[in-house]
Amino acid sequence: MNDSYLNSMASLSSSSSSSFLFFFSFSIFLASSPDLFSVYAKSHNLTHSSSLTPINYHLYHSSGNLMEEIRNLVHRHPDKLNMETLKGGNKGYDTEVAVVTYGKGKSQNDERSKFRILLSFGQHGRELITSELALRILSILSEEQHLPTVDHATLNGTLGKLVIKVVPMENLNGRKLVEAGDLCERRNGRGVDLNRNWSVDWGKKEKDYDPYEENPGVAPFSEPETQIMRKLAISFDPHIWINVHSGMEALFMPYDHKNITPIGLPLQRMKSLLEEVNHLHCHKHCMIGSGGGSVGYFAHGTATDFMYDMVRVPMAFTFEIYGDGTASSKDCFKMFNPIDLSSYNRVLNDWSAAFFTIFKLGPQQLGEIHSKALDKLVSIDDYLDGYLMERRNRYGKKMEVLELGMQEIRTYFRLFLLSSVLLLFMFCSRISKGKRPIVSAIPL
Ligand SMILES: [Zn+2]
Repeated sequence: MNDSYLNSMASLSSSSSSSFLFFFSFSIFLASSPDLFSVYAKSHNLTHSSSLTPINYHLYHSSGNLMEEIRNLVHRHPDKLNMETLKGGNKGYDTEVAVVTYGKGKSQNDERSKFRILLSFGQHGRELITSELALRILSILSEEQHLPTVDHATLNGTLGKLVIKVVPMENLNGRKLVEAGDLCERRNGRGVDLNRNWSVDWGKKEKDYDPYEENPGVAPFSEPETQIMRKLAISFDPHIWINVHSGMEALFMPYDHKNITPIGLPLQRMKSLLEEVNHLHCHKHCMIGSGGGSVGYFAHGTATDFMYDMVRVPMAFTFEIYGDGTASSKDCFKMFNPIDLSSYNRVLNDWSAAFFTIFKLGPQQLGEIHSKALDKLVSIDDYLDGYLMERRNRYGKKMEVLELGMQEIRTYFRLFLLSSVLLLFMFCSRISKGKRPIVSAIPL
């Protein structure tokens, strides 16, 4: 809550005439002014020099083409895939998030009885390779492309037990800014980092905080993209969450905001899965550990920390699938994406195989589905659109988390302030009437 609101509450209780006047004009100002909190950092304009690597459209799809390819793929395989587009927006900013679901059964009941995996790609605009990987995984799931090491029967045996939801391009608006030439843009279409906009340890800023990189937004879940993803995660309730990024090669587990991992069994099952992936598909050179402990900085308000702590996804990961440490820090296309055909293919081959290893080993690691059902003694109450959540946390302590967006708080507060002013006004005018001498009985 903002301090100035509290100050104006204090001025209400003292109710001297000067503070009343101040309060009155302040509340009118609040009600009529443009939003005090909607001042977003303007997108930085990079100066483009010829030394910067442009997007290689011989290798990469444009966002429009990629989504079109995915739509066509879904249409060709209605028995395996379906697709929905989730829309959201506020304050004149709109977005949409496409979600592709792989699974043989179509009903929600079928989903509930299966092992559920949620994958997100393209949360940062400049990491184009991640969305290419999403397309590759969907092509393999629909059996239009094949992994050299996995035969048809094994694949079907593995996939029959799963429902997989894929978000191929979480940050469509940010991606469009990148395609328009802002090659280093990672934030959404209005300058908020979608991997800092979640509520776990939201808004904390490190000494080297750079708003052009990590702007967390005006409040947790201020951004429609994050709201859509939270709603999707809460309703789908996955066993595995993987947030796919690029910039380095790493397999991260919680936590991003502190230098520790979970302990005990949760750690063991995440760690052994990651070690297997590192061994089989990352040539043993992927970094494994907590995001906060391994990456060299703490990240506050990330999706993976929320998935683990709040949605209680038992295996929550952030994968970093490619990085060119030799690229200049301004040469973002090169730093975050392979730029030649052979490394492009290598990344997609290695990492699509890694995901199918997870599809196979993940359910085994977790001891199949029922363990999570027993684990979930308190379910998320997501009426009010997921705002009010009462959860039992991992350590058995009751937690109540009230997550009202600043937008709603402001609206209610303005209504409250205006109605208080009206009531005070009526009260004052009654008092002044009461002090007037009674003259009605005396004729003029
Ligand atoms: Zn990223």
